[in-house]
Amino acid sequence: MTAEGRLYAGRMQQPQLVLLALLAGLLIGAAVVGLVVAALRARDRALAQTSAEVPEGVEAMLGAMDDPAFVCDTSSTVLALSPAAEVFGVHTGEVISSEELKRVARVARDTGSGIAENLRLRRGAAPAEPRLVAVRATPISGRLTLVVLRDITERERVEEMRRDFVANTSHELKTPVGAVSLLSEAIEFAADDPAQVRHFASRLQAEVTRLAALVNRILSLSRLQASDELRDVRDVSIDEVVTAAVEGYAIQADAAQVTVVRGGTKGLWVRGEPQILTEAVGNLVANAIAYSPEGSKVGVGVKLDDTVVEIAVTDRGIGIPESDQHRVFERFYRADQARSRRTGGTGLGLSIVKHAVQRHGGEVRLWSRPDRGSTFTIRLPMSDAPDLESVRPKPRRKSRKSSATIPVPAKGDTA
Ligand code: ADP
Repeated sequence: MTAEGRLYAGRMQQPQLVLLALLAGLLIGAAVVGLVVAALRARDRALAQTSAEVPEGVEAMLGAMDDPAFVCDTSSTVLALSPAAEVFGVHTGEVISSEELKRVARVARDTGSGIAENLRLRRGAAPAEPRLVAVRATPISGRLTLVVLRDITERERVEEMRRDFVANTSHELKTPVGAVSLLSEAIEFAADDPAQVRHFASRLQAEVTRLAALVNRILSLSRLQASDELRDVRDVSIDEVVTAAVEGYAIQADAAQVTVVRGGTKGLWVRGEPQILTEAVGNLVANAIAYSPEGSKVGVGVKLDDTVVEIAVTDRGIGIPESDQHRVFERFYRADQARSRRTGGTGLGLSIVKHAVQRHGGEVRLWSRPDRGSTFTIRLPMSDAPDLESVRPKPRRKSRKSSATIPVPAKGDTA
């Protein structure tokens, strides 16, 4: 073709090409729209078909379940679920997002039998802590699998705590038990030397007292940890709790030449178990005495902060370094090992306080500075004072009826 001919062909092709391109664009667009519409219809049909496949009653049963549970089909698409399942990112009409869950459901389907596994699954988006979840998948028909989840994180934590507790406790018990055994042998060998016998006997007594204190506290703590419920809830007078707690340690205070001073608001009440609360306040008083220098004062003050009753036990003792402050509430943790042992400490007192207060819906706060002292504050939800008039016996019959209906807290564990 000549140069003139090529130019002519080029001029003729341009509009044609534009038309062709427009036509092709229209065709492709129409095809894509058609495909999308067809795909949407197919999905709707599939959904309608699959949800119709969920056996009757299953959806209602899932709706009534507290545990997370769902039914999925062979493509791991969720067809029905319980309300609690959504926190694990499972949604109706969507494919299961967790690969692990998908695998468990698939294995159950492929083998045709139930399977149970513990998986680490997240509740919610990525920063959420993975939870330990017991997963049970059971095929309910050729195509459908029922998957039931149970969050066992808390149960495992309690079990781990129990194992630690048993291990620590046996370790802590071994020391005084070993000492008792050695001292009794020593007494036997020194039978001919009365002075030696007296010396070993008094040490033996001290070890036995320590052992009894430890056993008492272990029992208290395990009772507190055994369940989250309070057994004998009543109106508790804070005045009576403080009196019993302070009186319970009067001998220790005298021996340590520490004066315990009471003050603050009177006539406040909370709901709970008087014995547990008295033991908790008593443990704080005991510590304040044990970790204070001779001749110093320990204060026990009560006040109302809005609707919270605060019982603050303050000392001017050795204080607790900041690095230890969050750990002193742990079982068997001692900031000052030597002193704790010397004063007969068990390392369980504050752990008991923490559990006792938490059981009553409260909290313990700590302020402390080394060499300046510490303030432990128990905070409990206030309750209204009981209507003592209605329970107080009528004047005429006063001599016959006792005031047993007015709660009097028992003395706490003074071990
Ligand atoms: P312990 O029986 O050893 O006193 P606790 O659980 O009552 O055990 O206390 C844990 C640790 O916290 C103690 O060993 C001690 O180091 C520290 N502690 C508790 N109360 C006080 C206090 N009032 N002043 C200084 N240290 C304290």
